[in-house]
Amino acid sequence: MGMKIVFATNNANKLREINQILAGKIEIIGLNAIGCHEDIPEEEPTIEGNARAKSLYVYEHYKHNSFADDTGLEVEALDGRPGVISARYAGEGKDMKENIKKVLAEMQGIENRRARFKTVISLMIDGHETQFEGIIEGELLESEVGEGGFGYDPIFKPFGYDQTFAQMQSELKNKISHRAIAMNKLIDFLLKY
Ligand code: IMP
Repeated sequence: MGMKIVFATNNANKLREINQILAGKIEIIGLNAIGCHEDIPEEEPTIEGNARAKSLYVYEHYKHNSFADDTGLEVEALDGRPGVISARYAGEGKDMKENIKKVLAEMQGIENRRARFKTVISLMIDGHETQFEGIIEGELLESEVGEGGFGYDPIFKPFGYDQTFAQMQSELKNKISHRAIAMNKLIDFLLKY
């Protein structure tokens, strides 16, 4: 279909995951490919706002159709935290070991372990924004299990599976994940565009 869209990220994990999901249907280029090397501000108070800020930034500064995703882990017993601040929950160092440690410490002794990952994708195409959401529900373990994945994967076990995201084959995670759900909605939209 010859459509070329900038994915507003330099995260190699996410680019690899999304290209696996897209399977060549649409040409996706990263920020490096358009010479965008600055940190795009992510200062909005919501996941939706951050996704929009990033896609809009690329659209306005680089005149490219673009999309951006923003993801958070929402823990029910923690009133939805870490949520929009998932990457820097334990501090600006964005240290995932520390972030996981903080969540597990706050969850110590708490019976309700329900949590979900939420991804919002903001697509800016020809001056219009559309958002797509993906949610996967599951539970938090009490310690880390598994070596794969990234982020909070070692402590998150989706309902209906007996493995954490970090134990799963990446093909399986990429089929069922929050990001995959949101991405599939994006792909449907683009194929009909
Ligand atoms: P971002 O919005 O994709 O940059 O993600 C925000 C935070 O959520 C970061 O701390 C990521 O490590 C974490 N995160 C995003 N996606 C996933 C995932 O698929 N599994 C586990 N953690 C994730």
